[in-house]
Amino acid sequence: MPELPEVETVRAGLETVLCGHRFVRVDQRRRDLRFPLPERFAERLTGRTVVRLDRRAKYLLVHLDHGEVLVIHLGMTGRFSIGSAPRSPPVPASHSTDSARRRSDGGQGRLTAPALRRAAPRANPPPMANQALRERAQLGQFTHAHGKDAKHDHLVFTMSHGAVITYNDARRFGYMTLIPESGLNDHAYFSPLGVEPLSARLTAHYLAARAAGKKLDLKALLMDQRIVAGLGNIYVCEALFRAGLAPYKGAARLATRTGKPTPAAERLVAAIKAVLADAIAAGGSTLRDYKQADGSLGRFQHHFAVYGRNGEPCLRPGCGGRVRRKAQGGRSTFYCPACQR
Ligand SMILES: [Zn+2]
Repeated sequence: MPELPEVETVRAGLETVLCGHRFVRVDQRRRDLRFPLPERFAERLTGRTVVRLDRRAKYLLVHLDHGEVLVIHLGMTGRFSIGSAPRSPPVPASHSTDSARRRSDGGQGRLTAPALRRAAPRANPPPMANQALRERAQLGQFTHAHGKDAKHDHLVFTMSHGAVITYNDARRFGYMTLIPESGLNDHAYFSPLGVEPLSARLTAHYLAARAAGKKLDLKALLMDQRIVAGLGNIYVCEALFRAGLAPYKGAARLATRTGKPTPAAERLVAAIKAVLADAIAAGGSTLRDYKQADGSLGRFQHHFAVYGRNGEPCLRPGCGGRVRRKAQGGRSTFYCPACQR
């Protein structure tokens, strides 16, 4: 499951190929991902220019020039890859038959379902390049080799400057929808969400106010999307470690009796922002350095301080403790019992 830094990395990677460019072709190969795609999805996107690409919690928000927003959640296995259209001359619309598509695909390409293809406009750029072409393409800063799972390429977006953006999702827990920009904040996806952890709205005062008098433990407080949006198990563990706070201790310790933030609240907010910023920076450098064919946008390995390190030595200098795993709220919590108190 990609967490906030991975989604932010995907956002940054897509920004240059989406913003200011128009969808000239949308190949929709399924009617649904986790949920059905919106009615006339391909048709509604085609011809629209992307004005802005934002992120809210783990959602990507593609703002379009006609006032709708393409909302994308990557689910568990959703990923984007960027290639370019083949350099061969476009197949004339009148010849854009199945056989022409097969030829230009080197006989390997899969065809869009006839019912869905009707939505695609005529006089389009050429159909999808084959695998090899896409892997050689250097448009954008990275490409991704799909290998054998091209059958999970569910959506292919061709942009006006030639970029071909493929959405691949093996398990199909991802979803996309179109929401009017004016209704975004009131939408069921977004209205319950708390503050963005990297925004100025997440302060020690805010967290203390939300924690005051609560019975829940620190980890549960941070996992609550209504309080802080987009934090998941990994970065909650990492932030609590960095702040030196025990995950199972009561969240009420973040506030004084009068509701003011305690030093623990100050430390925790700083730690949350720092672990996320570090992970996003790591993702950014992964994008810049990306050369390997087996990497992919939004899937990079971090070196975590506690997450996944059960039984290993604590990395805090001079601590000498060992990282422990404990079930908490149905998830594994990793922490150091020696220095997280
Ligand atoms: Zn320790």
